[in-house]
Amino acid sequence: MRVEDILREKGTNVATTSPDANISSALAMLRDRGIGALVVSTATNPVSGILSERDIVRAFAARGSSVLTESVDTSMTSPVVSCAPEELLTDAMATMTTKRFRHIPVVEAGKLVGIVSIGDLVKHRLDELEQETSSLRAYIATA
Ligand code: AMP
Repeated sequence: MRVEDILREKGTNVATTSPDANISSALAMLRDRGIGALVVSTATNPVSGILSERDIVRAFAARGSSVLTESVDTSMTSPVVSCAPEELLTDAMATMTTKRFRHIPVVEAGKLVGIVSIGDLVKHRLDELEQETSSLRAYIATA
């Protein structure tokens, strides 16, 4: 299974923000959409950074509530590790595990075409394993 199989099911919509938006508006977006990270896009670079809830927690711990009026680029992570739609799901999971993050934007021909989270990958992997198990059970029952 590949990353594009997940996007086919979950869709290609990605929540983005700009580097000069403030953290307060980024927080509202995370809350309203029930997500954990925003891709930071500019006119020339669709994946110029990523701002996850962890970045905001880190900034709060360091600088307190003044962070709310700071711009997104003061707390975002850059460069961003992205993947292609054809990447194997197991490779994307390995990247997230070794690099210790939970989101990977998907880029094709320089365009942002989706995002996958560790939750999406684990869900699909479990579905896949469940299908394998039922096929094996059916096979054993008829053998
Ligand atoms: P997360 O676990 O995804 O919430 O993020 C943990 C940390 O890794 C935060 O500092 C994020 O900004 C950063 N991060 C998340 N995803 C990526 C990525 N695809 N490439 C680079 N850094 C990332």
